[in-house]
Amino acid sequence: MRIVRTTSGLQTWRRQHDAVRTTIGFVPTMGALHDGHRSLMRRARRLCRTVVVSIFVNPLQFGPAEDYLRYPRDTDGDLAICRDEQVDVLFLPAPDTFYPQTFCTTVAVETLTRRWEGEQRPAHFQGVATVMARLLNLVRPTQTFLGEKDYQQCLVIRQLVQDMGWDTRVRFCPTIRDADGLALSSRNQYLSASQRQRAPVLYRALLGGKEAIARGVRRARAVEKTMAGLVQTGHPDGVDYLACCDARTLEPLIRLQGDVVLLGAIRIGGVRFIDNLMVRVGDSRG
Ligand code: AMP
Repeated sequence: MRIVRTTSGLQTWRRQHDAVRTTIGFVPTMGALHDGHRSLMRRARRLCRTVVVSIFVNPLQFGPAEDYLRYPRDTDGDLAICRDEQVDVLFLPAPDTFYPQTFCTTVAVETLTRRWEGEQRPAHFQGVATVMARLLNLVRPTQTFLGEKDYQQCLVIRQLVQDMGWDTRVRFCPTIRDADGLALSSRNQYLSASQRQRAPVLYRALLGGKEAIARGVRRARAVEKTMAGLVQTGHPDGVDYLACCDARTLEPLIRLQGDVVLLGAIRIGGVRFIDNLMVRVGDSRG
């Protein structure tokens, strides 16, 4: 595995690869790698000749009151995982090399970022779009692998790629969960034992919403009420949103039909959790 620590080093590597004409699979991450990240690397490994992983805790996507400084960092563990997954190139830049002092560009994806995480975390998606623009231009991957766990982020990045006309195929990969349903996340490390026990309640609430739809409920309000009731059993410290949305636009729905995504964000202790569940809704009563 080759480790590249500077953007110029990555540019040099990429230029050499222009001649080789290989397929490049790219997995962007913020490190503290877990089985969710591994699943993206494996998908990339299966579908592409060369696998590039980036590990960069992107300061631009954290709000001023958020956890940028204490975000988990584990370079040794990450290196071991990348080697184990046969990653070809690991891009591991330091913040000041990735964003030089002269850096002054911001990328904003409108509309899709207006609600949900975009509303709760102002400037978050600008940070995501800006780092992705820079990474995608450096790596120029054939395919880019993203986790559905961050569903709004998936849609935002796909939109960015489409709008900019970048030639990379964006693939959404399924959410990897612990046995009790909690979606794996680097931030799960923050949890105390008792908080960890309560955390799967978000996924259970989403499942309850899906079950209500399976029983024939078609009013979004009714499904949202079911989810809100269930999530309270875990005594969250806050519920940021629980909503039934159009899976393509993320606009909230009144009546459920077609491809629906149930989106949720709650807080337990100082930790914020997001999760989602896709539901394909046919005609029914209710
Ligand atoms: P992060 O390091 O949290 O920024 O995540 C890097 C990539 O891994 C993003 O595309 C995430 O959506 C994806 N990811 C994070 N957690 C999971 C998970 N539990 N299952 C699948 N993909 C994930």
